[in-house]
Amino acid sequence: MVTQILELPEKIVPADVLVVGGGSAGCMAAIKAKDADPALKVVVMEKAGLSRSGAITMGMDALNVVAIPGVASPEDYVESMATACEGILDPDLCRVEAERSFAVLKELEAWGVHFPRDDSGRYRVHQVHAKGSFLVEMEAPDLKKVLARQVARRGIEVLERTMATRLLAEGGAVNGAIGLDTRSGELVVCPAKATILTTGCAGRFGLPKSGYLYGTYEFPGNAGDGYSMAYRAGAELTGFEYLQILPLIKDFNGPSLYVAQVRGARVVNALGERVGGSLGEKEMVAMKAIYHETRADRAPIYLDMTHLPEERIREIEAVMFGSERPTRREFFKARGIDFRRDQVELHITEPYLCGGHGLTGVVINTEAETSLKGLYASGDVAAVPWQYLTGALVFGAIAGRNAAKHAATRQTPAVNQDTIQAERERLLRHLAAEDGIKPHVFEYKLRRIVNDYIAPPKSERKLKTALWWIARFRRDLPRVQAQDLHELMRTAELYCILDCAELSARASLERRESRWGLAHYRIDHPERDDENWLKHVILRRDPDTGEMTVTTRPITAEAR
Ligand SMILES: Cc1cc2nc3c(=O)[nH]c(=O)nc-3n(C[C@H](O)[C@H](O)[C@H](O)COP(=O)(O)OP(=O)(O)OC[C@H]3O[C@@H](n4cnc5c(N)ncnc54)[C@H](O)[C@@H]3O)c2cc1C
Repeated sequence: MVTQILELPEKIVPADVLVVGGGSAGCMAAIKAKDADPALKVVVMEKAGLSRSGAITMGMDALNVVAIPGVASPEDYVESMATACEGILDPDLCRVEAERSFAVLKELEAWGVHFPRDDSGRYRVHQVHAKGSFLVEMEAPDLKKVLARQVARRGIEVLERTMATRLLAEGGAVNGAIGLDTRSGELVVCPAKATILTTGCAGRFGLPKSGYLYGTYEFPGNAGDGYSMAYRAGAELTGFEYLQILPLIKDFNGPSLYVAQVRGARVVNALGERVGGSLGEKEMVAMKAIYHETRADRAPIYLDMTHLPEERIREIEAVMFGSERPTRREFFKARGIDFRRDQVELHITEPYLCGGHGLTGVVINTEAETSLKGLYASGDVAAVPWQYLTGALVFGAIAGRNAAKHAATRQTPAVNQDTIQAERERLLRHLAAEDGIKPHVFEYKLRRIVNDYIAPPKSERKLKTALWWIARFRRDLPRVQAQDLHELMRTAELYCILDCAELSARASLERRESRWGLAHYRIDHPERDDENWLKHVILRRDPDTGEMTVTTRPITAEAR
């Protein structure tokens, strides 16, 4: 079998617009590119199956950022985000997200997504930001299928079970991507006039407390592939020192706090005292509070709903057991936990990197353009702070339209055979390796290093130890042996997790202060230092040396 795969010719699929990653942002990008010009050939390359992949696989209960006219304003949203990001943001991105958010809600509604209203016909909104009520309730257990249906209706070509492994980059421009068909083993080469990166976050980064490699809060197929591919192509990235860690229900990695807290639930310590700040201050403040409570021996921390009226409890149960995670009902039943009577123990999740739930990503402008010509990015892979699903859909749409425009100005690029051959050798040699390291063993050890030396609390010594280990893992990586195509995909992901680890360690070393609660808490620089660190940390691969470069960029005056 191995010999047959090694000898397979590559499959060439040219595209006008190539969308890499078919999640929330990717579906929207493909739809808008096709709508902009139905004659265009739009291709989506998706690692999993389109109707069930990505962060919204299990449905969503809210659109977290909507500036409903007359209810909440884009100005209040920008102000809230400046508070939440502690000054490190591009306010223009937040403004555009808020300004276009209501149109996104209306479009989803037209596609059949239900947004419940109160008795007076108003959308049901909640306040989770510092200023203004932007979270709008949504009942969408099948949201991903709704998007996938819109993609299918437009005749967009979808290459499912195909993992993009490399962008075709040359001279500061991107000309498509190479992928691996994880069923046939063929290399799929897509030369494209415009490319949109929508591969989501690095959910598989730190190791969950449960120890399960795939028991992550985020969609476990998202292993930071887009961050790594963009980095290797030479794009600018930022926010890798921000490690997202969420307080969630212990032993059940699903959403909980937004759902319960907006309906009156409290977070309390083992003594019954309230913990953390308001929701407007974001989870990162709650996270640091939980960390300190634990160190002060006032843990465990609980979610307390016992004071709530029956009507509220039922509402919370409907969301928690309904659209978001249907198996959660069974989980609580088996544990004998009833929200009316029992507090629910919380725990902090694995550390991960994400634009939707944090600050990490490929640098984009308000047109969803990256620093590389012909490459657009949107969703969790892009550095739009705390953008959630709204940002994925807003910037997905912008990327789709702009990529379509860009495609109209170009010929299909030629493909460099040497690049294909190099990618073939990099990947397929893992099938031929003998007596090598198992991919899951390598991954477990690598992600342990993330927990041990990159996750907060951080210090120079720990981060340098991480870099020492990363160099060692790079030496060992060619020895990983894949026994089948599934393991080959897992092996290809290891390169991405390793790149993300280095990006995060280097950015964390650079920012010599503490900021964002626990997300970038350095024991050796415990204070926030606005005088020196009100700036972005930018990472990039030097095209000449191949080395990672770390620089800083001032924030705009409005962000201060
Ligand atoms: C549990 C959970 C609950 C959430 N709840 C809410 C909520 O209530 N409200 C809200 O507004 N937001 C919520 N969010 C956030 C929101 O869902 C995300 O920000 C948004 O869906 C991200 O979209 P995306 O397209 O960037 O990523 P995803 O939807 O995750 O899509 C990424 C896609 O890329 C594919 N992919 C990855 N690597 C490759 C590769 N190498 N080649 C090809 N394909 C690849 C993946 O298979 C996946 O399909 C939640 C997120 C999670 C995880």
